[in-house]
Amino acid sequence: MSKTKRSFAARLDRLAQVAVKVGLRPAVGQQVILTAPVEALPLVRLITEHAYREGASLVTTLLDDGQCAVARYKYGHDSAFDVAPDWLFAGMEHGFKNNAARMAISGENPGLLSGQDPARISRAAKARGLAYKPVSELITSSAINWNISSCATLPWAKMMFPELSDKRALNKLWDAIFKASRADADDPVAAWTEHNNTLLARRKILNDKRYSALHFRGPGTDLVVGLADDHRWAGGLSEAANGITFNPNIPTEEVFTTPHYKRVDGYVSSTKPLSLQGNVLEGIRVRFEGGRIVDARADKGQAVLEKLIQTDEGASYLGEVALVPHSSPISASGLLFYNTLYDENAACHIAIGQSYSKCIADGRTMTREELAAKGGNHSNVHVDWMIGSGQVDIDGITADGAAEPVMRKGEWA
Ligand code: ZN
Ligand code: ZN
Repeated sequence: MSKTKRSFAARLDRLAQVAVKVGLRPAVGQQVILTAPVEALPLVRLITEHAYREGASLVTTLLDDGQCAVARYKYGHDSAFDVAPDWLFAGMEHGFKNNAARMAISGENPGLLSGQDPARISRAAKARGLAYKPVSELITSSAINWNISSCATLPWAKMMFPELSDKRALNKLWDAIFKASRADADDPVAAWTEHNNTLLARRKILNDKRYSALHFRGPGTDLVVGLADDHRWAGGLSEAANGITFNPNIPTEEVFTTPHYKRVDGYVSSTKPLSLQGNVLEGIRVRFEGGRIVDARADKGQAVLEKLIQTDEGASYLGEVALVPHSSPISASGLLFYNTLYDENAACHIAIGQSYSKCIADGRTMTREELAAKGGNHSNVHVDWMIGSGQVDIDGITADGAAEPVMRKGEWA
């Protein structure tokens, strides 16, 4: 293989091509709204170039900087934490309602806000979540095509590889991103077509089974997750309401659906740390009764976890359940990314909060009340956390209550 001979510039260009040609797939004449950390500028330029080559009419980029975000917590007046850029989000909403595509580059420092006041972090997240809600609803319902890809940044790389020099840590993270994003494949677009077909086959099997629930068992876990009525499994290629097929996440290894928010019972333990609002949470243990979280503990980050669950009523219920084999390439890398885009694709996971209406048949045209009647949860938050490992077994519970193996020791049964 020639991949080790490829220059960094060539690999970065291939990653940009994956983001645009596999991920976002802008239509001719479509506007693109792009957000990214400042460190991602070289990748942003390449993505912009490829978006124009594919026919985008205008790419508008918003860059943000971690140090500026921290300055707010260090120097901001106490009244500074209940505001959000509603003017900006109103503009984004206007853009997406007029069919702009959404491109996001992730690369934030997972520990950016560690040491800052959890109450302030929670207030700021709540204000942002409220103001952003109309935008996030357009995205989670896939009104338009969207994609999240990622860019290595030094703070992120040093979090993963604290023992390495800056240069080596950054190179190692880039290698992992190129590999997980299949940008190193000889033909990345063909590799993604094959991968999407694999995910589609898994979706089909689960959709045909029509399980009423999934039963997770493992160390510290015995959890029954009821599935929403008329649920549909998604994963890989997705179709937006504007008719464009796209890949929302690069990378992605999961198939996922909407649980019934009132039919979740038992207890569950996290199997990986979770980066949340600039903090790292470890050792999460949660108990559910009738769908509701009745007890939540974390060995590290307890206050952040509690604030998350208190965000709103829906933050105490589940909005997603996802299956990922323990042998997925990201899991096989053995790396812990402290970034949900990666870590959620290394293990089965559940998400607290907002559900995906597209995972309920005809859900995209239903009202919030109609979705809730099927079991779809509503919240201003959506936080995935990992509950799968090589020690977790999953049974599918059929409509008549029989159990059949879905996963054994983390692999498809
Ligand atoms: Zn997921
Ligand atoms: Zn999720």
